[in-house]
Amino acid sequence: MPTFTEQRTAAEARYAEKRPLSKELFDRASTVMPGGSTRSVLDVQPFPFRVASASGCQLTDVDGLTYIDFLGDYSAGLLGHDPAPVRAAVHSALENGWSFGGVHTDEIRAAEAVVNRFPSIEQVRFTNSGTEANLMALQLARHHTGRDRIVVCDGAYHGGLLYFGHGGEALLAPFDFTRVNYNDSEALSIVDGSVAAILVEPMMGAGGCIPASREYLEALRRRCDESGALLIFDEVMTSRMSAGGLQQRTGVMPDLTTLGKYLAGGMTFGAFGGRSDVMAAFDPARGGTLTHGGTFNNNVVSMAAATAALSEMLSEESLSQLFVRGESLRSRLNELFQTSTLPLVATGVGSMMAIHTVDGPVSGPQDLEHSDHELKQLLFHEMLHRGCYFAPRGFISLSLAIADEQCDIFVNAMSDAIDAISASQ
Ligand SMILES: *Cc1c(COP(=O)(O)O)cnc(C)c1O
Repeated sequence: MPTFTEQRTAAEARYAEKRPLSKELFDRASTVMPGGSTRSVLDVQPFPFRVASASGCQLTDVDGLTYIDFLGDYSAGLLGHDPAPVRAAVHSALENGWSFGGVHTDEIRAAEAVVNRFPSIEQVRFTNSGTEANLMALQLARHHTGRDRIVVCDGAYHGGLLYFGHGGEALLAPFDFTRVNYNDSEALSIVDGSVAAILVEPMMGAGGCIPASREYLEALRRRCDESGALLIFDEVMTSRMSAGGLQQRTGVMPDLTTLGKYLAGGMTFGAFGGRSDVMAAFDPARGGTLTHGGTFNNNVVSMAAATAALSEMLSEESLSQLFVRGESLRSRLNELFQTSTLPLVATGVGSMMAIHTVDGPVSGPQDLEHSDHELKQLLFHEMLHRGCYFAPRGFISLSLAIADEQCDIFVNAMSDAIDAISASQ
């Protein structure tokens, strides 16, 4: 009976054999980029397949293999790979030139669209990434409160310099962080008059698609009100859950919100915004003393793309359809997992979910400590072998290009993969 490790080794050999060109390009990439890539999360064992083109919900690699894309660029690819309104807006913006070194009109449109959608955002500023948006929001909270401590959740990911999981420590931005367990309302009793902000996702995304309980969200709001700390919702991922984000769905409002990923239709993007009296720190006319730099903050491509994505594609209706499709896929997967003897469970909200190799339940990253890593890698390869791409760590985010038909294919492939793995056990 082969172990998961032995099966995984065989699956990786099968993977490598079918992808000679990706292997060759990986070796070439590795001489000029450490690890052969410039975005660590894209690492795949034994080497990543290299994408040649993408269209709709399909990826094609340099060896000519195709995959249905259930990863959706870790949620940044919400619109699919060739959303026509975004393409048209970007082309048309480029006709008028770029790198203005001056303000223009699309940034107003993009800002109006953001402010009109998200209930707690009265004013907004743009950045180039979600990481930058969170760094700016944290500094803004420190400035506003005159305090230094920042409360975050263990295992959370808030950007390249704000990762609170295993291995994140060395690159952590040097703030005075205090970590608490996610969904643990009692742990919030440590939030006192020294805390500038709590930075938290209303569903932990990269940390494992773990939803916050309603009680926890209310406890966060209450502790912030009592202590004078600002509540910052990182909605870089979760803002897709409705036109007004997950905050609109839950009704619990933060003081500041950070955004990123899909909102500029797949172009470089980040934003932070919220209460006007807090954002006034950047407004000299209201006595604000902070400056916020960023050469590409209002770059014409992202601003045009964001305007088109927000006004033409991300309607309440299309987002709620996608939400329902995701809920249905997750429950079908869990039904399947319950009939299997393998330790598998899917968690998530709406169109984002994660497959974990534990028995569950999962209410925080601490419940994932005993995940079966070998089974997870094996499942990734068995699904890829069946033409379904999602993250090696089990993360799935549906794009608008995924229809019910692709979800059926996914569930069938999963059933088949589970059978293949179990039969070899
Ligand atoms: C991806 C992500 C970020 C970082 O955004 P980048 O644009 O990659 O810097 C921050 N917070 C959350 C929740 C994310 O998922």
